[in-house]
Amino acid sequence: MPTQGTHRRLLRRAAAGCAAVLSLALVCACGTTHAGSSAASAVRPSASASASSSPSASDSPSAHPTAHPAPAPATTAAAPPLAAGAPESSIVYSTATGGRTVALSFDDGPGPATPKILDLLAQYHAKATFCEIGPQAAADPAIVQRIRAAGHRLCDHTVHHPQPMHTLSHDKQTYEIDAAKDMIVKAGGPGTEVSWFRAPGGDFSADNRQIAVQDDLRPLGWTVDTRDWARPGVDKILATAQRQLHPGGVILMHDGGGDRSQTVAALAELLPWLVQQGYTFDFPAS
Ligand SMILES: [Zn+2]
Repeated sequence: MPTQGTHRRLLRRAAAGCAAVLSLALVCACGTTHAGSSAASAVRPSASASASSSPSASDSPSAHPTAHPAPAPATTAAAPPLAAGAPESSIVYSTATGGRTVALSFDDGPGPATPKILDLLAQYHAKATFCEIGPQAAADPAIVQRIRAAGHRLCDHTVHHPQPMHTLSHDKQTYEIDAAKDMIVKAGGPGTEVSWFRAPGGDFSADNRQIAVQDDLRPLGWTVDTRDWARPGVDKILATAQRQLHPGGVILMHDGGGDRSQTVAALAELLPWLVQQGYTFDFPAS
C-alpha cells in the first residue's frame, strides 16, 4: 500500500527532529544511568526492584549470536517516558486487563526451544507474546505461523539485536525496527499483526520508541526478569519469577539466543504454579 507507506514515512520524517531533541535532552538530564531513576519509578512503581538488574544484563552479547559485541548500557526499560501528549510511546509494564493476570513474554526467538514452549503453553491454555528477531522469523515461517495459530501474539525485537541500540543513528534504528516487523509479518502470513517493540536489552530511547509508535508498535518492557538467558539453574529461574511477580506483571524469558533447556524446564514448573496461584494469562497492554 504505497499511500500508507508514504504517509508513514512523512510522519516519521516530521517527528525525527522532535525525537532527536528529546533524545538529547535525556542524555543531558540523565547521563548514562537511567536505571532506578525517579521517573522510572513513577512509570512502574511495582517494578522498581527489577529495574536495576533487568534489561542490560539480560541481553548480554553472549546470549545472542547476532548481538553487537559492545556491552549494554544501563539505560533501559527504566527510560523515562516521553512528554505528555505521547502516551502511546510510553513503555508498557502491565497486562491489558490487570487484576490477577500475568503476561508471559519470550525474547530472541524463534529458536529450537520454541516448539517445546508452545507445547507447554498449550497444555496450560496459556497465552504468551513472542518478541522475535526478524531474520529468525524469516528463516522459520512455519513456527511463526504456529505461534499465531495458537493465539499467541508477536513483538518486534529488531533485525540484528544491536546493543546498545540507542547509540545507532536514527536511520539505522528505523531499519532495525521496520525491517524486523516486515520479516515477522511476512513469515506469519496474511493478517499477521505485530503489536509491540522490545528494544534489545531494554535499551529504549525517545528515538526508538517514537520510531516504534510510527510503526504502530507499543514499546514493551517487563516487570519480572528471570535472567534465564544466563542459565542460573531451573530452580533459580523459577524462584526469581515467583519472587518478582505481582498481579498484572510481565515476565521476561527467552526462547532463543542459546541453549534454553533450563527455560523450558522452569516454565514447566512455573505454569502450574501460576494456575495454582489463581493467575490467568493475558497479553501486555497495547
Ligand atoms: Zn533480546
